[in-house]
Amino acid sequence: MNQPSEKKIIIAIDGFSSSGKSSMARQLAKSIGYRYIDSGAMYRAVTLYAIEHGYVAPGRDPDVDAVEASLPHIHISFAIAPDGSQITELNGRNVEQQIRSMAVSQCVSPIAAIPQVRHALVAMQQQLGRDKGIVMDGRDIGTTVFPEAEMKIYVNASPQTRAQRRLAELVEKGVATSFEEVLANVISRDHIDRTRAESPLRKAPDAIELDNSTMSIAQQDAWLIDQYHRIAGLK
Ligand code: C5P
Repeated sequence: MNQPSEKKIIIAIDGFSSSGKSSMARQLAKSIGYRYIDSGAMYRAVTLYAIEHGYVAPGRDPDVDAVEASLPHIHISFAIAPDGSQITELNGRNVEQQIRSMAVSQCVSPIAAIPQVRHALVAMQQQLGRDKGIVMDGRDIGTTVFPEAEMKIYVNASPQTRAQRRLAELVEKGVATSFEEVLANVISRDHIDRTRAESPLRKAPDAIELDNSTMSIAQQDAWLIDQYHRIAGLK
């Protein structure tokens, strides 16, 4: 557990979709007593709002003007569930389940490529990290949101490994889908996230790279906490 006297730092964990970064970020935050923020959930919440208002749909380009105009009406907050997990709220409504749907996954990267959406969410993320003691995961946390973060991790794994992991999660949640559909979504999001003009997914020069394709969850958690101890000067 983090001791009150320890200097709090910012931990940025970036990487491809379904690379396991959220699980490792969440576990690290829990182990060291830091706050965990899933920045992808924020892009997903904006996307859910846009779907509900007819501004985007799977296979259809977003109505960028309508999404931009609705930003002042979109309020995202986080509540904590009794088991300690994060609950994403959209205008006060618990949307944690809905934002994980296949429809949201299919529409989120084009929404996340809209510069005004990014500016609004980056400002909110920076505000959440102003007191440090935070682990945030996403695509641009170490490059754009907190370029000064003391600890930066860039996580990767092959698209097949990531699709397999995502499929297992979706099956567990009872979502009807196939490996091919999930793999196509992973590859398409990778492409959009890497090639968009505004803060594309890329490794920060000072980030530590981790390919966890062949690592167990326990191994990657142990690796991460080791990095934390080294960087926070506890070792
Ligand atoms: O992390 P997750 O897969 O839930 O994120 C959903 C999508 O949100 C990503 O595919 C990406 O398009 C977008 N995203 C982003 N920047 C972040 C976090 C997520 O563009 N910091």
